[in-house]
Amino acid sequence: MEQTFIMIKPDGVQRGLIGEIISRFEKKGFYLKGLKLMSVERSFAEKHYADLSSKPFFPGLVEYIISGPVVAMVWEGKDVVLTGRKIIGATKPSEATPGTIRGDFAVEVGRNVIHGSDSVESARKEIALWFPEGIAEWRSNLHPWIYEA
Ligand code: UDP
Ligand code: MG
Repeated sequence: MEQTFIMIKPDGVQRGLIGEIISRFEKKGFYLKGLKLMSVERSFAEKHYADLSSKPFFPGLVEYIISGPVVAMVWEGKDVVLTGRKIIGATKPSEATPGTIRGDFAVEVGRNVIHGSDSVESARKEIALWFPEGIAEWRSNLHPWIYEA
């Protein structure tokens, strides 16, 4: 089954949205395989967003990510990368559909509450970066009630 890396950004933590966000992924039927609250250093944030290093918003983005603790998570499930992006909503909250996390809880692109991997390949890299220690091995006993055989 597919895995994705999801991060609640510092604004999501400060605003008390951790439970709400976890709940949305949990209720959907995805499995939480890794979870930690941590503050990251500048060099680590720069590495996570290396693909965006030439963008004008990159310095502000790095400041944002290191401005407070984040919640790093690995979620597993069928098509979880793409579906996770749908649960999160469009990058710009003004374009995010109500019912999505950014559509419901964010106003500004530079305060958009949450990160989600954009492909299976990015997910693999991001999980390796954020969880070098590895993740949990478990499957819910409700599995057959969520997934067809
Ligand atoms: N971002 C920004 N200004 C922009 C575009 C992006 O501040 O014009 C920030 C925003 O927080 C976004 C992050 O940079 O979530 C990463 O950008 P990306 O295009 O990868 O969007 P995402 O994958 O998070 O939807
Ligand atoms: Mg992205």
